[in-house]
Amino acid sequence: MLNLREVLPKMPKAELHVHLKGAMPVEVFTALLNKYVAENVLETILSEERDYYSEHDNIRPFLSPRHWSAEEVLSLFCYDDFDQFLATWLFTGHFIRDAEDFRRLVTAVIENQRSQNVVYAEITVAPPEYLHRGIALEDMIGCLEEGAAIPGIRVQWIIDLVRNNGVPHGVDLLKRVIQLRTPSIVGITLGGAEHRYPPAQFAPVYDLARNHGLRLTVHAGEASGPESVWDALRVLGAERIGHGVRAIEDESLISYIVEQDIGLEVCPTSNVRTGIYPSLEAHPVKALYEAGAPVTINSDDPTFFGTTMAEEYAYVHALGVPEEGILRMIENGFKYAFLPEDEVRKYLDDVEREWGRLRLEG
Ligand SMILES: [Zn+2]
Repeated sequence: MLNLREVLPKMPKAELHVHLKGAMPVEVFTALLNKYVAENVLETILSEERDYYSEHDNIRPFLSPRHWSAEEVLSLFCYDDFDQFLATWLFTGHFIRDAEDFRRLVTAVIENQRSQNVVYAEITVAPPEYLHRGIALEDMIGCLEEGAAIPGIRVQWIIDLVRNNGVPHGVDLLKRVIQLRTPSIVGITLGGAEHRYPPAQFAPVYDLARNHGLRLTVHAGEASGPESVWDALRVLGAERIGHGVRAIEDESLISYIVEQDIGLEVCPTSNVRTGIYPSLEAHPVKALYEAGAPVTINSDDPTFFGTTMAEEYAYVHALGVPEEGILRMIENGFKYAFLPEDEVRKYLDDVEREWGRLRLEG
Protein backbone atom coordinates (compact mmCIF):
# COMPACT_ATOMS: atom_id res chain seq x y z
CA MET A 1 0.00 0.00 0.00
CA LEU A 2 1.42 3.35 -1.05
CA ASN A 3 1.19 6.47 1.03
CA LEU A 4 -0.41 8.46 -1.79
CA ARG A 5 -0.25 11.77 0.08
CA GLU A 6 3.54 11.46 -0.01
CA VAL A 7 3.83 9.90 -3.43
CA LEU A 8 1.59 12.23 -5.44
CA PRO A 9 3.71 15.40 -5.12
CA LYS A 10 6.76 13.38 -6.23
CA MET A 11 5.17 11.67 -9.22
CA PRO A 12 5.81 13.09 -12.69
CA LYS A 13 2.45 14.53 -13.73
CA ALA A 14 0.82 16.11 -16.76
CA GLU A 15 -1.77 18.83 -16.61
CA LEU A 16 -4.07 19.38 -19.60
CA HIS A 17 -6.55 21.92 -18.24
CA VAL A 18 -5.12 24.90 -16.39
CA HIS A 19 -5.67 28.59 -17.15
CA LEU A 20 -2.64 30.86 -17.13
CA LYS A 21 -4.13 33.56 -14.92
CA GLY A 22 -5.89 31.00 -12.74
CA ALA A 23 -2.52 29.50 -11.86
CA MET A 24 -0.82 32.83 -11.07
CA PRO A 25 1.10 32.38 -7.78
CA VAL A 26 -0.29 34.61 -5.00
CA GLU A 27 3.15 36.20 -4.45
CA VAL A 28 3.27 37.32 -8.07
CA PHE A 29 -0.21 38.79 -7.95
CA THR A 30 0.69 40.58 -4.70
CA ALA A 31 3.73 42.16 -6.36
CA LEU A 32 1.66 43.32 -9.35
CA LEU A 33 -1.10 44.65 -7.11
CA ASN A 34 1.36 46.65 -5.01
CA LYS A 35 3.13 47.96 -8.10
CA TYR A 36 -0.10 49.31 -9.60
CA VAL A 37 -1.59 50.57 -6.33
CA ALA A 38 1.58 52.70 -6.06
CA GLU A 39 0.96 53.93 -9.62
CA ASN A 40 -2.63 54.92 -8.72
CA VAL A 41 -4.24 52.39 -11.05
CA LEU A 42 -7.02 51.89 -8.49
CA GLU A 43 -8.34 55.33 -9.34
CA THR A 44 -9.01 54.32 -12.94
CA ILE A 45 -10.71 51.10 -11.78
CA LEU A 46 -12.76 53.00 -9.25
CA SER A 47 -14.24 55.31 -11.82
CA GLU A 48 -15.13 52.41 -14.15
CA GLU A 49 -16.35 49.58 -12.00
CA ARG A 50 -16.35 50.64 -8.39
CA ASP A 51 -19.93 49.63 -7.61
CA TYR A 52 -19.56 46.19 -9.13
CA TYR A 53 -16.39 45.33 -7.20
CA SER A 54 -17.48 46.89 -3.91
CA GLU A 55 -20.51 44.57 -3.86
CA HIS A 56 -18.15 41.70 -3.12
CA ASP A 57 -16.86 41.24 0.45
CA ASN A 58 -13.59 39.64 -0.64
CA ILE A 59 -12.73 42.43 -3.10
CA ARG A 60 -13.93 45.53 -1.21
CA PRO A 61 -10.84 45.89 1.07
CA PHE A 62 -8.58 45.86 -2.00
CA LEU A 63 -10.24 48.99 -3.39
CA SER A 64 -8.43 51.03 -0.71
CA PRO A 65 -4.92 52.03 -1.72
CA ARG A 66 -2.28 50.53 0.60
CA HIS A 67 0.58 48.00 0.54
CA TRP A 68 -0.51 44.34 0.80
CA SER A 69 1.28 41.18 1.99
CA ALA A 70 0.83 37.87 0.15
CA GLU A 71 -0.85 36.51 3.28
CA GLU A 72 -3.44 39.28 3.20
CA VAL A 73 -3.99 38.77 -0.52
CA LEU A 74 -5.00 35.14 0.13
CA SER A 75 -8.30 36.51 1.47
CA LEU A 76 -9.07 37.85 -2.01
CA PHE A 77 -9.41 34.23 -3.16
CA CYS A 78 -12.00 33.32 -0.48
CA TYR A 79 -15.50 33.31 -1.96
CA ASP A 80 -18.42 30.98 -2.06
CA ASP A 81 -20.32 31.60 -5.22
CA PHE A 82 -19.74 31.85 -8.94
CA ASP A 83 -20.47 35.60 -9.20
CA GLN A 84 -17.83 36.35 -6.59
CA PHE A 85 -15.34 34.11 -8.38
CA LEU A 86 -16.08 35.90 -11.67
CA ALA A 87 -15.73 39.36 -10.10
CA THR A 88 -12.41 38.32 -8.54
CA TRP A 89 -11.23 36.97 -11.91
CA LEU A 90 -12.05 40.31 -13.55
CA PHE A 91 -10.54 42.34 -10.71
CA THR A 92 -7.17 40.56 -10.94
CA GLY A 93 -7.10 41.38 -14.67
CA HIS A 94 -6.56 45.07 -13.91
CA PHE A 95 -3.06 44.32 -12.62
CA ILE A 96 -1.61 42.60 -15.69
CA ARG A 97 -1.17 45.65 -17.86
CA ASP A 98 1.88 45.30 -20.10
CA ALA A 99 4.08 42.72 -21.81
CA GLU A 100 6.50 42.74 -18.85
CA ASP A 101 3.68 41.77 -16.44
CA PHE A 102 2.55 39.09 -18.87
CA ARG A 103 6.08 37.66 -19.13
CA ARG A 104 6.31 37.60 -15.34
CA LEU A 105 3.01 35.74 -15.15
CA VAL A 106 4.06 33.17 -17.76
CA THR A 107 7.42 32.50 -16.10
CA ALA A 108 5.99 32.26 -12.58
CA VAL A 109 3.21 29.85 -13.61
CA ILE A 110 5.60 27.53 -15.45
CA GLU A 111 8.14 27.53 -12.62
CA ASN A 112 5.36 26.80 -10.13
CA GLN A 113 4.11 23.88 -12.24
CA ARG A 114 7.64 22.53 -12.50
CA SER A 115 8.10 22.74 -8.70
CA GLN A 116 5.06 20.41 -8.34
CA ASN A 117 6.66 17.84 -10.68
CA VAL A 118 4.29 18.69 -13.48
CA VAL A 119 6.63 17.64 -16.29
CA TYR A 120 4.19 18.34 -19.12
CA ALA A 121 1.58 21.11 -19.19
CA GLU A 122 -0.90 22.35 -21.75
CA ILE A 123 -1.68 25.80 -20.40
CA THR A 124 -4.73 27.72 -21.61
CA VAL A 125 -4.30 31.41 -22.43
CA ALA A 126 -7.17 33.74 -23.27
CA PRO A 127 -5.66 36.57 -25.38
CA PRO A 128 -8.82 38.77 -25.15
CA GLU A 129 -8.20 39.28 -21.42
CA TYR A 130 -4.83 40.89 -22.12
CA LEU A 131 -5.56 42.49 -25.51
CA HIS A 132 -8.24 44.40 -23.67
CA ARG A 133 -5.52 45.96 -21.46
CA GLY A 134 -3.42 46.93 -24.46
CA ILE A 135 -0.91 44.06 -24.57
CA ALA A 136 -0.20 43.23 -28.24
CA LEU A 137 -0.85 39.69 -29.50
CA GLU A 138 2.68 39.62 -30.99
CA ASP A 139 4.18 40.39 -27.57
CA MET A 140 2.01 37.82 -25.87
CA ILE A 141 2.96 35.06 -28.30
CA GLY A 142 6.62 36.04 -27.94
CA CYS A 143 6.34 35.58 -24.15
CA LEU A 144 4.59 32.23 -24.60
CA GLU A 145 7.35 30.96 -26.87
CA GLU A 146 10.03 32.11 -24.38
CA GLY A 147 8.12 30.40 -21.58
CA ALA A 148 7.98 27.14 -23.49
CA ALA A 149 11.81 27.16 -23.56
CA ILE A 150 12.07 27.08 -19.73
CA PRO A 151 14.01 23.88 -18.96
CA GLY A 152 12.80 21.00 -16.80
CA ILE A 153 9.19 21.03 -18.03
CA ARG A 154 7.56 20.74 -21.45
CA VAL A 155 4.85 23.33 -22.09
CA GLN A 156 2.41 23.73 -24.97
CA TRP A 157 -0.27 26.41 -25.20
CA ILE A 158 -4.00 26.15 -25.80
CA ILE A 159 -5.60 29.38 -27.02
CA ASP A 160 -8.96 30.19 -25.44
CA LEU A 161 -10.96 32.18 -27.98
CA VAL A 162 -13.52 33.10 -25.26
CA ARG A 163 -17.04 32.14 -26.39
CA ASN A 164 -18.68 35.25 -24.83
CA ASN A 165 -17.10 37.36 -27.57
CA GLY A 166 -19.11 35.49 -30.23
CA VAL A 167 -18.30 33.63 -33.44
CA PRO A 168 -17.00 36.46 -35.73
CA HIS A 169 -14.60 37.60 -33.01
CA GLY A 170 -13.45 33.99 -32.52
CA VAL A 171 -12.73 33.60 -36.24
CA ASP A 172 -10.85 36.93 -36.43
CA LEU A 173 -8.72 36.22 -33.38
CA LEU A 174 -7.96 32.69 -34.58
CA LYS A 175 -6.84 34.03 -37.98
CA ARG A 176 -4.42 36.39 -36.23
CA VAL A 177 -3.14 33.58 -33.99
CA ILE A 178 -2.60 31.34 -37.04
CA GLN A 179 -0.59 34.11 -38.74
CA LEU A 180 1.65 34.57 -35.70
CA ARG A 181 1.67 30.92 -34.66
CA THR A 182 4.83 29.54 -33.02
CA PRO A 183 5.63 25.84 -32.44
CA SER A 184 4.43 25.77 -28.82
CA ILE A 185 0.85 26.79 -29.70
CA VAL A 186 -0.83 23.40 -30.03
CA GLY A 187 -4.60 23.90 -29.90
CA ILE A 188 -7.72 25.87 -29.09
CA THR A 189 -10.53 25.82 -26.56
CA LEU A 190 -13.57 27.90 -25.71
CA GLY A 191 -13.99 29.07 -22.13
CA GLY A 192 -16.69 31.37 -20.78
CA ALA A 193 -20.43 31.03 -20.29
CA GLU A 194 -21.29 27.65 -21.83
CA HIS A 195 -25.03 27.92 -21.13
CA ARG A 196 -25.32 31.27 -22.95
CA TYR A 197 -22.91 30.41 -25.79
CA PRO A 198 -23.43 26.70 -26.57
CA PRO A 199 -20.78 24.93 -28.68
CA ALA A 200 -22.58 24.22 -32.00
CA GLN A 201 -22.51 27.79 -33.36
CA PHE A 202 -18.68 27.78 -33.17
CA ALA A 203 -18.29 25.19 -35.97
CA PRO A 204 -16.64 27.77 -38.33
CA VAL A 205 -13.99 28.48 -35.66
CA TYR A 206 -13.26 24.79 -35.14
CA ASP A 207 -13.18 24.06 -38.89
CA LEU A 208 -10.62 26.81 -39.38
CA ALA A 209 -8.48 25.53 -36.49
CA ARG A 210 -8.62 21.93 -37.77
CA ASN A 211 -7.64 23.02 -41.29
CA HIS A 212 -4.52 24.63 -39.80
CA GLY A 213 -3.47 21.58 -37.83
CA LEU A 214 -4.50 22.89 -34.43
CA ARG A 215 -5.77 20.38 -31.88
CA LEU A 216 -9.29 20.76 -30.53
CA THR A 217 -10.72 20.84 -27.04
CA VAL A 218 -13.65 22.81 -25.66
CA HIS A 219 -15.24 23.52 -22.28
CA ALA A 220 -18.51 21.54 -22.33
CA GLY A 221 -20.66 19.54 -19.93
CA GLU A 222 -19.80 21.90 -17.07
CA ALA A 223 -22.49 24.60 -16.77
CA SER A 224 -24.63 22.78 -19.38
CA GLY A 225 -25.64 19.16 -19.64
CA PRO A 226 -24.98 16.24 -22.03
CA GLU A 227 -26.41 17.99 -25.13
CA SER A 228 -23.52 20.45 -24.98
CA VAL A 229 -20.99 17.57 -24.96
CA TRP A 230 -22.77 15.86 -27.87
CA ASP A 231 -22.47 19.07 -29.91
CA ALA A 232 -18.83 19.53 -28.91
CA LEU A 233 -18.07 16.03 -30.24
CA ARG A 234 -20.36 15.79 -33.27
CA VAL A 235 -20.51 19.38 -34.50
CA LEU A 236 -17.12 20.78 -33.45
CA GLY A 237 -15.18 17.51 -33.68
CA ALA A 238 -13.51 18.11 -30.31
CA GLU A 239 -10.76 15.57 -29.54
CA ARG A 240 -11.02 16.12 -25.78
CA ILE A 241 -13.63 17.71 -23.55
CA GLY A 242 -12.82 20.37 -20.96
CA HIS A 243 -14.68 19.14 -17.85
CA GLY A 244 -17.32 16.94 -19.56
CA VAL A 245 -18.40 15.70 -16.13
CA ARG A 246 -22.11 16.16 -16.83
CA ALA A 247 -21.82 13.49 -19.56
CA ILE A 248 -22.55 11.16 -16.64
CA GLU A 249 -26.21 12.24 -16.97
CA ASP A 250 -26.52 10.41 -20.33
CA GLU A 251 -25.62 6.73 -20.52
CA SER A 252 -25.42 6.66 -24.33
CA LEU A 253 -23.02 9.63 -24.26
CA ILE A 254 -20.77 7.85 -21.78
CA SER A 255 -20.74 4.78 -24.08
CA TYR A 256 -19.82 7.04 -27.01
CA ILE A 257 -17.00 8.69 -25.03
CA VAL A 258 -15.63 5.27 -24.05
CA GLU A 259 -15.89 3.88 -27.62
CA GLN A 260 -14.38 6.96 -29.26
CA ASP A 261 -11.72 7.19 -26.53
CA ILE A 262 -12.37 10.88 -25.74
CA GLY A 263 -10.24 12.23 -22.89
CA LEU A 264 -12.15 14.18 -20.24
CA GLU A 265 -10.32 17.05 -18.53
CA VAL A 266 -11.86 16.62 -15.07
CA CYS A 267 -11.27 19.37 -12.47
CA PRO A 268 -12.98 18.23 -9.23
CA THR A 269 -12.38 21.19 -6.88
CA SER A 270 -13.25 23.68 -9.60
CA ASN A 271 -16.66 22.07 -10.11
CA VAL A 272 -17.44 22.39 -6.40
CA ARG A 273 -16.14 25.97 -6.06
CA THR A 274 -18.20 27.15 -9.05
CA GLY A 275 -21.32 25.39 -7.79
CA ILE A 276 -21.72 22.62 -10.41
CA TYR A 277 -21.81 20.14 -7.49
CA PRO A 278 -22.64 20.95 -3.87
CA SER A 279 -19.67 19.00 -2.46
CA LEU A 280 -16.75 16.80 -3.51
CA GLU A 281 -18.78 13.82 -2.29
CA ALA A 282 -21.38 14.65 -4.94
CA HIS A 283 -18.77 14.81 -7.74
CA PRO A 284 -19.11 12.08 -10.42
CA VAL A 285 -15.37 11.41 -10.96
CA LYS A 286 -15.60 7.91 -9.44
CA ALA A 287 -18.70 7.09 -11.51
CA LEU A 288 -16.93 8.29 -14.66
CA TYR A 289 -13.91 6.15 -13.82
CA GLU A 290 -16.07 3.08 -13.12
CA ALA A 291 -17.92 3.61 -16.41
CA GLY A 292 -14.55 3.36 -18.18
CA ALA A 293 -14.41 7.00 -19.34
CA PRO A 294 -10.86 8.29 -19.99
CA VAL A 295 -10.48 10.63 -17.00
CA THR A 296 -7.57 13.05 -16.63
CA ILE A 297 -7.21 15.12 -13.45
CA ASN A 298 -6.56 18.87 -13.56
CA SER A 299 -6.59 21.95 -11.34
CA ASP A 300 -8.28 24.49 -13.73
CA ASP A 301 -7.58 27.66 -11.68
CA PRO A 302 -5.50 26.45 -8.72
CA THR A 303 -4.90 29.90 -7.18
CA PHE A 304 -8.55 30.87 -7.39
CA PHE A 305 -9.71 27.50 -6.05
CA GLY A 306 -6.95 26.94 -3.46
CA THR A 307 -5.74 23.62 -4.81
CA THR A 308 -2.79 21.81 -6.41
CA MET A 309 -2.47 18.86 -8.78
CA ALA A 310 -1.34 16.52 -5.97
CA GLU A 311 -4.34 17.58 -3.86
CA GLU A 312 -6.75 16.97 -6.72
CA TYR A 313 -5.51 13.36 -7.08
CA ALA A 314 -5.70 12.92 -3.30
CA TYR A 315 -9.35 14.09 -3.28
CA VAL A 316 -10.19 11.66 -6.07
CA HIS A 317 -8.59 8.83 -4.10
CA ALA A 318 -10.56 9.88 -0.99
CA LEU A 319 -13.74 9.62 -3.08
CA GLY A 320 -13.04 5.92 -3.51
CA VAL A 321 -11.00 5.66 -6.71
CA PRO A 322 -8.45 2.93 -5.89
CA GLU A 323 -4.66 3.24 -6.19
CA GLU A 324 -4.57 1.64 -9.66
CA GLY A 325 -7.25 4.11 -10.79
CA ILE A 326 -5.10 7.02 -9.64
CA LEU A 327 -2.14 5.59 -11.58
CA ARG A 328 -4.39 5.21 -14.65
CA MET A 329 -5.43 8.86 -14.37
CA ILE A 330 -1.81 10.02 -14.04
CA GLU A 331 -1.01 8.01 -17.19
CA ASN A 332 -4.05 9.46 -18.96
CA GLY A 333 -2.63 12.95 -18.46
CA PHE A 334 0.09 11.94 -20.93
CA LYS A 335 -1.94 9.55 -23.07
CA TYR A 336 -4.51 12.21 -23.97
CA ALA A 337 -1.97 15.02 -24.34
CA PHE A 338 -1.61 16.74 -27.70
CA LEU A 339 1.82 15.17 -28.14
CA PRO A 340 3.40 12.80 -30.68
CA GLU A 341 3.14 9.13 -29.73
CA ASP A 342 6.86 8.58 -29.13
CA GLU A 343 6.92 11.38 -26.56
CA VAL A 344 3.86 9.98 -24.81
CA ARG A 345 5.57 6.57 -24.65
CA LYS A 346 8.63 8.11 -23.01
CA TYR A 347 6.56 9.90 -20.36
CA LEU A 348 4.57 6.70 -19.65
CA ASP A 349 7.85 4.83 -19.10
CA ASP A 350 8.93 7.55 -16.63
CA VAL A 351 5.61 7.29 -14.78
CA GLU A 352 5.88 3.50 -14.51
CA ARG A 353 9.47 3.69 -13.29
CA GLU A 354 8.80 6.40 -10.70
CA TRP A 355 5.66 4.66 -9.40
CA GLY A 356 7.68 1.46 -8.91
CA ARG A 357 10.57 3.32 -7.26
CA LEU A 358 8.33 5.27 -4.87
CA ARG A 359 6.52 2.03 -4.00
CA LEU A 360 9.83 0.45 -2.96
CA GLU A 361 10.78 3.59 -1.03
CA GLY A 362 7.45 3.59 0.83
ZN1 LIG B 1 -11.32 25.77 -17.57
